[in-house]
Amino acid sequence: LSDRLTSVLSNLRSKGRLSDADIDATAREIRIALLEADVALPVVRAFIAKVKERAKGAEVSAALNPAQQVVKIVNEELVAILGGETRRLNMAKTPPTVIMLAGLQGSGKTTLAGKLARWLKGQGHTPLLVACDLQRPNAVTQLQVVGERAGVPVFAPEPGNGVGDPISVARRGIDEAKHAQHDVMIVDTAGRLGVDEELMKQAADIRDAVTPDETLFVVDAMIGQDAVTTAEAFRDGVGFTGVVLTKLDGDARGGAALSVREVTGQPILFASNGEKLEDFDAFHPDRMASRILGMGDVLTLIEQAEQHFDQDQAEAAAAKIGTGELTLEDFLEQMLAVRKMGPIANLLGMLPGAGQMKDQLSQVDDKQLDRLQAIIRGMTPAERSNPKIIDGSRRKRIANGSGVAVREVNDLVNRFYEARKMMKQMAGRFGFGGGGGGSS
Ligand code: GDP
Ligand code: MG
Repeated sequence: LSDRLTSVLSNLRSKGRLSDADIDATAREIRIALLEADVALPVVRAFIAKVKERAKGAEVSAALNPAQQVVKIVNEELVAILGGETRRLNMAKTPPTVIMLAGLQGSGKTTLAGKLARWLKGQGHTPLLVACDLQRPNAVTQLQVVGERAGVPVFAPEPGNGVGDPISVARRGIDEAKHAQHDVMIVDTAGRLGVDEELMKQAADIRDAVTPDETLFVVDAMIGQDAVTTAEAFRDGVGFTGVVLTKLDGDARGGAALSVREVTGQPILFASNGEKLEDFDAFHPDRMASRILGMGDVLTLIEQAEQHFDQDQAEAAAAKIGTGELTLEDFLEQMLAVRKMGPIANLLGMLPGAGQMKDQLSQVDDKQLDRLQAIIRGMTPAERSNPKIIDGSRRKRIANGSGVAVREVNDLVNRFYEARKMMKQMAGRFGFGGGGGGSS
């Protein structure tokens, strides 16, 4: 993807305004990125349409080139859809707060039960785990192991009674929670590998028996495109008030998050990222957006470019770059602007396809920039704006004044014209100058 994006970025630089063609070109890349992240196709379509609409109405930023700007809009839109701020758990006014877990088998419900219990306990709650998965022989034992690790008691049907009734266990779980003064109870339920009518009804019956304050749909991030149908089935069969995304430690890009969120409108509350109980965190929409987009480095670069961008200066420089009138003075300013963004090497590392420029820029390390700066500072304004007048005696004076050899001044002047070409490229890549026509 990175290569494709690079070509888009370079094709689009140096244009003053977002055209439909600019937006379409970048939108195509975004579309591929989302599909690669396993976002369901209808969700991708709706999302791209929304982004295009916003990009068309957007004011052109002078800090970013058009492609960067579209990527920025995409990211903002993703964060907004994924939930903006994280929502907290709904707690009951009269305890116990009942949290029910629902989801396919293997989605991570039982593990999550332990994680949630441990997390709530850490916040001063006194949770009780209730074992309502009686489908598989070892499901209860698994919850008991998890409960022991979390240091949280488990309410389960007495062993030896054959297969118990999960609805009755759920009911008795509430009595137990009240009796033993647990302020939260977490109900673990059964799930099948596919969506299953009978189990869906069982979950609905448990729901009716305990009237949960929060029903969490637990979904494996690796589920990919199937997230939509699964989420719809659970929404219609049981209903849920929040989503937990699991197995984010895997290499799934997390498109399921966007799909589930778009289709059900329910917030994603937590993220699970490992088998251990502490591998658990509140859900962070911004992190997930960046993961889905798969352009974290580009996003960092955009942020930095915006932060350190001096609009007036760049607009002036951009105009000059456009007409090929860049002076040494501008060169110095641009160099300083780039340096404000951090060491050159870091910047290069962040650019997709930086390889293409690395050869040209390898000669421009930070120390060398210091020397170049010193030389330019040693010149008169006339010399800076018109390097052609810098003859032999001027070179000698400048060299003496800035403490370098005459050869270095020669180098600088000779390379200035070459550098001017390079600055044009950098202007496009880093966002200044390239999009610098200013607004409207
Ligand atoms: P349930 O069938 O929904 O109760 O799912 P389980 O809690 O039994 O989890 C199924 C498997 O996934 C188990 O092997 C868990 O250890 C594993 N698992 C659960 N959550 C995560 C997670 O966030 N990351 C990883 N890597 N494994 C997980
Ligand atoms: Mg389970």
